[in-house]
Amino acid sequence: MYSLNDVVMMKKAHPCGANSWKIIRMGADIKIECQNCGHVVMLPRREFDKKMKKVIESANED
Ligand SMILES: [Zn+2]
Repeated sequence: MYSLNDVVMMKKAHPCGANSWKIIRMGADIKIECQNCGHVVMLPRREFDKKMKKVIESANED
């Protein structure tokens, strides 16, 4: 699972060359911010679930 402020890797890297994104909003839509260039992308949760590869850094350790 993932939660707000987690850093995740997507199946496809961002065109800027980086592939680490921070989850900055969670709801019906999920907003992620590229940790390299700051580009923000909003995806419906279902699509995010399909495109997310793994959590790199978990905000809450539990
Ligand atoms: Zn980027």
